Amino acid sequence: GHVENPYAGATGYVNPDWRAKAAAEPGGAAVANTSTAVWMDRIAAIAGASGAMGLRAHLDEAVRQDAANGSAPLTIQVVIYNLPNRDCSALASNGELLIAQNGFNRYRTEYIDPIAAIMRDSAYSNLRIVTIIEPDSLPNLVTNLNSFPKCQEANGPGGYVDGVRYALNQLHAITNVYTYIDAAHHAWLGWDSNFNPSVNLFYSTVSGTTAGVDSVDGFIVNTANYSATTEPYFSVSGTVGSQPIRQSNWVDWNYYIDEMTFARDLRTALVNRGFRSGLGMLIDTSRNGWGGSARPSGPSSSTELNAFVDQSRVDRRIHAGNWCNQNGAGLGARPTASPAAGFDAYVWIKPPGESDGASEDIQNDEGKKFDRMCDPTYTGNNLNKNNMSGALPNAPLSGRWFSAQFRQLLANAYPPV
Ligand code: BGC
Repeated sequence: GHVENPYAGATGYVNPDWRAKAAAEPGGAAVANTSTAVWMDRIAAIAGASGAMGLRAHLDEAVRQDAANGSAPLTIQVVIYNLPNRDCSALASNGELLIAQNGFNRYRTEYIDPIAAIMRDSAYSNLRIVTIIEPDSLPNLVTNLNSFPKCQEANGPGGYVDGVRYALNQLHAITNVYTYIDAAHHAWLGWDSNFNPSVNLFYSTVSGTTAGVDSVDGFIVNTANYSATTEPYFSVSGTVGSQPIRQSNWVDWNYYIDEMTFARDLRTALVNRGFRSGLGMLIDTSRNGWGGSARPSGPSSSTELNAFVDQSRVDRRIHAGNWCNQNGAGLGARPTASPAAGFDAYVWIKPPGESDGASEDIQNDEGKKFDRMCDPTYTGNNLNKNNMSGALPNAPLSGRWFSAQFRQLLANAYPPV
């Protein structure tokens, strides 16, 4: 069957590959049994690339964990992440497929079809298979068309809209598969000039699938990002002296300062636009804890606007547009079902300890390139208002194990481990 919230009453799949890496780090055993997502980040990942388990191996292991767990159903999360022209405004997670090189056909026949064929196997029909559909793709079409030719191309035939629709059509057709579309995070789409076009693009994309709005179970925010679930010590509608908080450098006129409020309002807007009223939101809390000694314990007493916001916020990034291997971050809330009305779960989609991108150019055969947002010496660009990148040094290629980052995430976990 297909339930309204696949996380409710369920146990989460523990990825043995991730568990082994986490457990090998000092103190890592305390979190190694946490459920994290499995990323299908290239065609070879389906069969199992570079010694990693493939999709069938994961689903077989999920069946085994399900049987060992007793009567609770088991939810396994799989990230669908291989669109042609992937990561069109950045470089660190550029993929193997290009629109100009038959990418859409290859995406369908060599990637989505084989994944759907495996998921459709009746051996897996008792699992709840959650799919996270193409992080950062549709949001790139909302904000990054002007300056990035690869995004312009992705906005056309055989691009992101066609790819997402194809994935939804194949995956939604499988009763025990659940689909969640990526909706970036508050510091990307939280301005009204981005928020409303996003709602429209999500609607036009999904309503163009065979099952229309029914093909989507929900949306996910903060995938692989660092935005806090809740900023406890200040409010976006507050003032300091007579100045609105929104005017501060940190908030920069955004309507949101955290993921909970952003996702809540996004959900309302999506339902008003025509999505199902049962739409469920997810927040990726894998790395948004911001604990440790730098975490403020209450609101600042400063009467100067920027000092107040900078001293009150738990998100310690240099700029909220920074996204690569952020120094100072900590593990966030452990995966939790039904944390609030309208929310299906807090989830760990980005596996903590896996790099966001290399801090220097590293040759590889996955299409990944060097993005200077991952270089700790980079002084930024207009997307982060020319701030330092805030990235940790000596990072490996995106997706590879980054021991120093895992150790910092563990040390700065909030709630503490
Ligand atoms: C990388 C993927 C990886 C994923 C999870 C992405 O940034 O591009 O290769 O599987 O992160 O770590």
